[in-house]
Amino acid sequence: MKVVIIGGGPAGMMAAISASQKGNKVILLEKMQSLGRKLLITGKGRCNITSSLPIEEFIKNTPGNGKFLHSCYQNFTNQEIIEFLKEQGLEVKEERGNRIFPITDKSQDVLNCFIQKLKELKVEIRYHTKVEKILLQEGIGIKKAIGVKTQNQNIAADKIILATGGKSYPLTGSSRRWI
Ligand SMILES: Cc1cc2nc3c(=O)[nH]c(=O)nc-3n(C[C@H](O)[C@H](O)[C@H](O)COP(=O)(O)OP(=O)(O)OC[C@H]3O[C@@H](n4cnc5c(N)ncnc54)[C@H](O)[C@@H]3O)c2cc1C
Repeated sequence: MKVVIIGGGPAGMMAAISASQKGNKVILLEKMQSLGRKLLITGKGRCNITSSLPIEEFIKNTPGNGKFLHSCYQNFTNQEIIEFLKEQGLEVKEERGNRIFPITDKSQDVLNCFIQKLKELKVEIRYHTKVEKILLQEGIGIKKAIGVKTQNQNIAADKIILATGGKSYPLTGSSRRWI
């Protein structure tokens, strides 16, 4: 299957890695000139990767109804992200408050792990590519997404993953609306 992923933050990069490992042809579209710009400023440039607490504590500490996160936390646990980084050669350390950081104290090293894996899997990455619209199949009834429209072309897709993140500093690729 051809999978198009919109947004090259941690969610989009990990989706690209996972979809590619399952044998799909993956295209990752990023509107900025580089991946993971928000990730770079996390934890004051050190990246607080995760917590060592059990998943139940994650749920409890989520404002509102955290229970809906159960299945995604079970699918990919805090231990699994630590293992993923270790496999790419990055060790982590635990600090007060059960917080996990890269041993190097550099968010860039965390980002490099994602980039390295994307390269290894030969995921196609298109920079400066802003998705403006999701293309829907014409017809009556439930509309199926069949591709995306960027500034200068349409890209067909069997599956589309929207990973455009939340609002933050504009330099991180953030904007009020996902387009
Ligand atoms: C100051 C700060 C500190 C933080 N510290 C931590 C921390 O220590 N630990 C932690 O876990 N979290 C932290 N966070 C939160 C963390 O950064 C986010 O949860 C995380 O980046 C979300 O990842 P994402 O992939 O969903 O979205 P993002 O990182 O926002 O990535 C979305 C990507 O989509 C791209 N995009 C957007 N629209 C389009 C479009 N139309 N077409 C193509 N591409 C598009 C953007 O350019 C961007 O690259 C922090 C956030 C901030 C702002």
